[in-house]
Amino acid sequence: MRRLVRLIRNVLGLLVLAAIVVAGVMTFNVVRRGSQQVQVAAAPRLEVDEQAAASRLGAAIRFRTISDAVNPDQSAEALHGMQAHIAASFPAFHAAATREIVGGYSLLYTWQGSDPAARPIALLAHQDVVPVSPGTEKDWQQPPFAGAISDGFIWGRGSWDDKGNLYSILEAVERLVKQGFRPKRTIYLAFGHDEEVSGQRGAVAIAALLASRGIRLDYVLDEGLLITDGILKGLDRPLALIGVAEKGYATFELTAHGTPGHASLPPRDTAIGLMSRALVRLEDNRPPMRINDTVAGMLDTIAPEMDLPNRVVLSNLWLLKPLLLREFDKAGPSAANVRTTTALTIFNAGDKDNVLPGNATATVNFRLLPGDTQASIADHVRRSVDDDRISIAPVSGNTDPPPVTATDTPSYAALNRTIRAVFPDVLVAPGLMVATTDSRHFTGVADNIFRFSPIRATSEDLKRFHGTNERLSVGGYADMIRFYVRLIENTAG
Ligand SMILES: [Zn+2]
Repeated sequence: MRRLVRLIRNVLGLLVLAAIVVAGVMTFNVVRRGSQQVQVAAAPRLEVDEQAAASRLGAAIRFRTISDAVNPDQSAEALHGMQAHIAASFPAFHAAATREIVGGYSLLYTWQGSDPAARPIALLAHQDVVPVSPGTEKDWQQPPFAGAISDGFIWGRGSWDDKGNLYSILEAVERLVKQGFRPKRTIYLAFGHDEEVSGQRGAVAIAALLASRGIRLDYVLDEGLLITDGILKGLDRPLALIGVAEKGYATFELTAHGTPGHASLPPRDTAIGLMSRALVRLEDNRPPMRINDTVAGMLDTIAPEMDLPNRVVLSNLWLLKPLLLREFDKAGPSAANVRTTTALTIFNAGDKDNVLPGNATATVNFRLLPGDTQASIADHVRRSVDDDRISIAPVSGNTDPPPVTATDTPSYAALNRTIRAVFPDVLVAPGLMVATTDSRHFTGVADNIFRFSPIRATSEDLKRFHGTNERLSVGGYADMIRFYVRLIENTAG
């Protein structure tokens, strides 16, 4: 009996000791790292004629530059109209730079630098927009293609994605030319016209043209992650994420082969049944969650800025990673940061209630975390479906995740400092872009690729992206212009 009491006492003692050690390590990890934010003086606020700039962007929205994969010339007239508006709106820049039309409708501007030894840079945006979902026109507070300016916002499809970036870049260079600024590095402005339908005719052609001229870019900056406010629990300051990584894209078409026939004599296995079971297996067997290096870097950078409970978790992923992953999974959209996603997007089979179809087809779209590849995900699909009556074929246009951009470079530091100077209240961290951008096509011609849009957004705003009531605040638009002016001064001056 006495021996048992001693044993229990020893075990309890060890448990208490272990708890003290764990608590000590956790506390150490919390206090070990202070803020990693670079200290930069706020940039003097540039005077911007907000109303004039907003009205130019409003005019751009009136051109319905909707891209279409099947009919690439669908919006020819709108694209030509907007390009004429651009030339008329920014005459000083057009006198200082050269303009080329690439792939039919894409624009490539070259603003020659004074130092031929300095590596050029490229600022990207796209001219095309997505259509308005049929039937939702009446839900818009302002018509989607009127370019209305009302209640302090510029309204319409493309105001945010991506004519806001396109026109604010042009506003910035126009202003710099008028000030007599001459870049040291050559600056390219590359404005594709089919980003929303994969960029094959636009960005791909521009990158190929640069490559054919032997041009190597120091960095490319494209649309991407935003300055979000109130989206991350436990962080009470706005957060700017610089997209240094981007997910890959892989779509597979599945076909289940059954025996067509009369519904009165159904076999045990039908095409629809086979396909349904295969799709359930794919959804039940999603690729596992994991924290890749980019997301780890993001968590590490924001941890010291969080409130205490979240700071404890983020500083102690060696112990609490499962807890964090569970939270990511519960939160829905943020799970895209920690897994290769599986999305069942198209399902087709049958056309008559008393006939068994011979085939059932389905389309599944995966967004690949860096580290996964088209080949590895094809393997995953085959193993999960595990049925040789179902054929699996990748569609064309699939892409591996592009290489991850380093964060210990002068160009990352310059971008980081520019954000902190123009938006002094904002924290900056590297991040993972979960959608694709035109910038991925520049992998072969650029040392560094960044995906960042200098736009403030709340979670309420995110629904407007590709959605209803897309808009951009007039004040926010002026800040975008300020950002691009400072970025060019800081990295090409
Ligand atoms: Zn876009």
